Amino acid sequence: MKEFYTNGELISVLTTQPIDRFLDYTAPKGGCAIGAFVEVPLGPRKVLGVVWGTGKGDLDKEKVRSAIRVLDVAPMRNELKSFLEKASDYTLTSLSNMLKLATRAQGLSDQPSMKTVYIRVPGNVENLTSARKRVLKVISDYGEVPFTLKELSEQAGVSSNVVKALVKTGNLIEVHKPKDVPFPRLDPLLKRRSLNKVQTQACNILVSQVKSAKFSTTLLRGVTGSGKTEVYMEAVAQCLRQDRQALVLLPEIALTAEFLARVEVRFGVRPAEWHSGLTVTERRRTWKMAGQGGLQMVVGARSSLFLPFKSLGLIVVDEEHDSSYKQENGVLYNARDMAVLRASIANATVILSSATPSLETWNNAEKGKYKKIELAKRVGSALLPKVVAVDMRQQDLPSNHWISPRLQKEILLRLDAEEQSLLFLNRRGYAPVTLCRECGEQLRCQDCDAYLVEHRFQKRLMCHQCGETYPIPQKCPFCGAEGCLSVVGPGVERISEEAKALFPEARIVTLSSDMFGSIRALKQQLEEISSGGADVVVGTQLVAKGHNFPYLTLVGVIDADISLHGIDLRAAERTFQLLQQVSGRAGRGKKPGLALVQTHQPEHPVIRAIMSGDEVGFWKAESITRKIAGAPPFGRLAGVLITANKAEDALLVGTELARNTGPLLKIGAKAFGPAVAPISRVRGRFRVRLLIKSHKGAKLQIAIKEWLRPLKLSSDVRLSIDIDPQSFL
Ligand code: ADP
Ligand code: ZN
Repeated sequence: MKEFYTNGELISVLTTQPIDRFLDYTAPKGGCAIGAFVEVPLGPRKVLGVVWGTGKGDLDKEKVRSAIRVLDVAPMRNELKSFLEKASDYTLTSLSNMLKLATRAQGLSDQPSMKTVYIRVPGNVENLTSARKRVLKVISDYGEVPFTLKELSEQAGVSSNVVKALVKTGNLIEVHKPKDVPFPRLDPLLKRRSLNKVQTQACNILVSQVKSAKFSTTLLRGVTGSGKTEVYMEAVAQCLRQDRQALVLLPEIALTAEFLARVEVRFGVRPAEWHSGLTVTERRRTWKMAGQGGLQMVVGARSSLFLPFKSLGLIVVDEEHDSSYKQENGVLYNARDMAVLRASIANATVILSSATPSLETWNNAEKGKYKKIELAKRVGSALLPKVVAVDMRQQDLPSNHWISPRLQKEILLRLDAEEQSLLFLNRRGYAPVTLCRECGEQLRCQDCDAYLVEHRFQKRLMCHQCGETYPIPQKCPFCGAEGCLSVVGPGVERISEEAKALFPEARIVTLSSDMFGSIRALKQQLEEISSGGADVVVGTQLVAKGHNFPYLTLVGVIDADISLHGIDLRAAERTFQLLQQVSGRAGRGKKPGLALVQTHQPEHPVIRAIMSGDEVGFWKAESITRKIAGAPPFGRLAGVLITANKAEDALLVGTELARNTGPLLKIGAKAFGPAVAPISRVRGRFRVRLLIKSHKGAKLQIAIKEWLRPLKLSSDVRLSIDIDPQSFL
């Protein structure tokens, strides 16, 4: 393949514009390398593009315009180009949209901005004033850190004139440097903790995999607190020693100060980050440095998979079963699966870490497609929490109360012992339904098929589909009756209220993603809880993820049944994972933990599996159920979602598709539907679904492409395909 195009040669450019094909240009003055990021004219505009290869030359030579310039960023490597192509084929997403994902940093086409920094010139300092000496000392203390005028004068506690004077006397020189500078180097040799025997064995396997510099995927399975993080950190260290870059994916990354601090302890400095909480400047810096090799480690959300790494050697997917790895809007992809794809192209190692792996991963490990390492015990003397079911049918509770006497008793014991309790309910707000006692109507969102959830903290009703909020009405909007609206069922805020009434002396904190103005405030709250600043924490899923609360010894699951009855094929699996994860929060410190799981169906197989701790038994049973149903991971699914302003329009398209399934039948796949979606309307748009089912080895994407090809959509109708769907709503 051609590596470089000289001025005027034909190039083929992929842009991020919604035109799904390559465009011909001629190489700009000075030429361009393959993969180069270029600015090209498109109509009256200038847009960003990547030189994908040689132009097709099917336009008149005179009509081909010249690319304007090459941007000052590292060219896209073949590895990333090939990843984007394959990911595009897999997810049935246009390559332009994949490129958009890979360039999600603003200001890439800006001229690099410069800053002035100060460097010390060796020489005699005897006769200098003490202020001037302080400035020079700051520079020598911090080694190579390039200080700006402001930073330097602040750090030394002097006016900027003092610094300027040192330039005049020749003790300092001013240097111009680009603003986006490399990240400080991590030291892989710094502070290695001594691992126990099982951890050492696990570590050795992972390290040798990274060393081999060949593609492999390993499931690192271990109960919470067994040291999975500790172990994969050593794989990161090996990767750094080999001068390759490591990527660690975490769910809820914006909240994981704890993890960043841990990296700092192990390697001396913090890694680069990639998530929605970053500033524009931070994003651009991380993006550019990934490409230039100016960073060694990124801790990021799922989209960090699309960074232009110079030499990616390791991807860790922490809590690999977490459903947040599936992106549910825009490009629909599963970051766990895409991590394996990218690593296979980059000859990198993948570690999938979890206490409760997804059935997909578990199955791949069983088949030997993935390697498997187990850490069965918690570190040191820490024991796994005891898990006990509380049969709510036998608990004497007045209506509108949800904390059982059994659970109350345990909370009291914890209050006496100055230990923490966590009450878990995966439902935001005060109450999920508001209804009129006169006419029986329930309040719903105007634009969605959804009940309004009362949020007493914000004094509003909220739609959890579109996020719209409404004032709480005085009168029933249906029958006009006054003072007749009443709420049904609990959300975390209501449980918190109940806890306050039961334990008036206790410090009670409610944690739910909507209760904090900013991520920073939420982070602070989490840290406060960790250091013992609360007696009872009432929280949603947010608290189940990765936070370490050393004083927590009791977990009460308010309603274990909620997620058991869903239409989701993974309902059992999800409930199992969530309950395991929540229970695992208890007793991570010195004291043993207890988890009380409130349920109306203690004999349900999922609840029984959690009580008995028989995970393997659960997975085996779940596998059989799925196998019989031909469901993933034993068969393949694709979801089709059609939306339109008018229900008929969406249904019409669905019916047309269902009538012409030839290409699907050819590969033995079947289409079910069309049917009105379980959530029939969101933001005023009607939703219709089809579901496609095929056997495991079928070439599903190719068949779907062919199936959709004749389809013409009117401008109001949208259609999206979700390969390996997680959501069926
Ligand atoms: P996991 O990721 O499996 O939940 P972690 O790696 O977070 O487990 O380890 C749990 C706790 O035990 C952490 O506080 C960690 O620092 C500590 N730990 C892990 N391994 C060791 C070890 N070998 N020696 C001492 N402490 C350890
Ligand atoms: Zn709504």
